[in-house]
Amino acid sequence: MVGNRQPEVNIGLVGHVDHGKTTLVQALSGSWTDQHSEEMKRGISIRLGYADATFRHCEGLEEPECYTVTEECPDGSESEPLRTVSFVDAPGHETLMATMLSGASLMDGAVLVVSANEPVPQPQTEEHLMALDIIGIDNIVIAQNKVDLVDADTARDNYEQIKEFVAGTVAEDAPIVPVSAGQEVNLDLLIQAIEEEIPTPDRDPDADPRMHVARSFDINKPGTTAADLSGGVLGGSLVQGELEVGDELEVRPGREVEEGGKTEYVPIETTIRSLQAGGETVDTVTPGGLLGVGTGLDPSLTKGDALAGRIAGPPGSLPPTWEEFTMEVDLLERVVGAEHGETVDEISTGEPLMMTVGTATTVGAVTSAREGECEVNLKRPVAAEPGTKIAINRRIGARWRLIGLGTLTD
Ligand code: GDP
Ligand code: MG
Repeated sequence: MVGNRQPEVNIGLVGHVDHGKTTLVQALSGSWTDQHSEEMKRGISIRLGYADATFRHCEGLEEPECYTVTEECPDGSESEPLRTVSFVDAPGHETLMATMLSGASLMDGAVLVVSANEPVPQPQTEEHLMALDIIGIDNIVIAQNKVDLVDADTARDNYEQIKEFVAGTVAEDAPIVPVSAGQEVNLDLLIQAIEEEIPTPDRDPDADPRMHVARSFDINKPGTTAADLSGGVLGGSLVQGELEVGDELEVRPGREVEEGGKTEYVPIETTIRSLQAGGETVDTVTPGGLLGVGTGLDPSLTKGDALAGRIAGPPGSLPPTWEEFTMEVDLLERVVGAEHGETVDEISTGEPLMMTVGTATTVGAVTSAREGECEVNLKRPVAAEPGTKIAINRRIGARWRLIGLGTLTD
């Protein structure tokens, strides 16, 4: 069926504010990720705007002209769907860096949008590229956007600046595709580059399903009677395996319980009552795109993103919950995105850090710091496999700044 394919890969749109990420997503998918009503309908995309696009192919045309998102080819024949991709449109505003980082754990690849009419790099261009580097997302396409606003010389000069900027980074060999999202120029070339550089990852169909919960809500209208209440809804992305309606689900770290002045986290178990993917109600879901999971949970447990940052999967299959952990630390040389390019000082005992672990963002205090390693005590625990990559942020001035990469050891 046309247009109802489940997305099979998640592609992040990253880059500086106003460089055209949302416009590009709209040009490729026909939906506007910033539009609140659409997000409300989807239910699970308010924090990270997201939209699905089906890339299509017109027979008989050469590359790149054969690539399109429209159903009708220039000769009137119908285009063939290649695959459906899900775009995660990261907010460019600097205070939303934590949101970008938690979204990055769901990205299989990324399109870095760089405006052709501004010097390179702008602060979040640099910061977002560093985040991709840290999280290890190396399937990258660079969209040199707004080429309609500059002359050929400026475009060439800007292209050289981009080349120089990405040298030595994870995006060193990424193709740079000049486009105009606004005028819909060269989108076929961009689709071709995405098809070549950001393949659908190999997925092990037998792996235990594992869902990263990015959002959670109570979908009931106020005043709904107990008998009519719908169970709590989890929104997020499946990173491996397959989920089916009727499956048992465990959520970790579960909910906070207070006992004798002590708070503790208890895993939650429930059953999957419904599944939504690619805007459709389905019986099973596979990795790629965002999904909504209707559960049997008391909706007060899922209200207002209360379960955001959790992991869900079959009971007994989930990684451990950590209230404190040790991580290997690899600090950056300079504070990314800082105006004066301050150098990064060693982490010291007692200092607070903000860490992004999967889709979870948590603050912790450093209880012991050695060179290349530190122990942190978390305000809110996280569930994660040893070896998980952690984006480490330090408070500098009024905001958290990315200072390095951690690897969870034990
Ligand atoms: P975002 O913050 O990166 O999501 O940027 P937006 O997509 O919201 O775009 C910022 C502004 O740039 C908007 O006014 C767009 O209309 C404009 N814009 C985006 N792409 C282009 C383009 O290719 N050419 C021109 N001239 N304007 C563009
Ligand atoms: Mg935007």
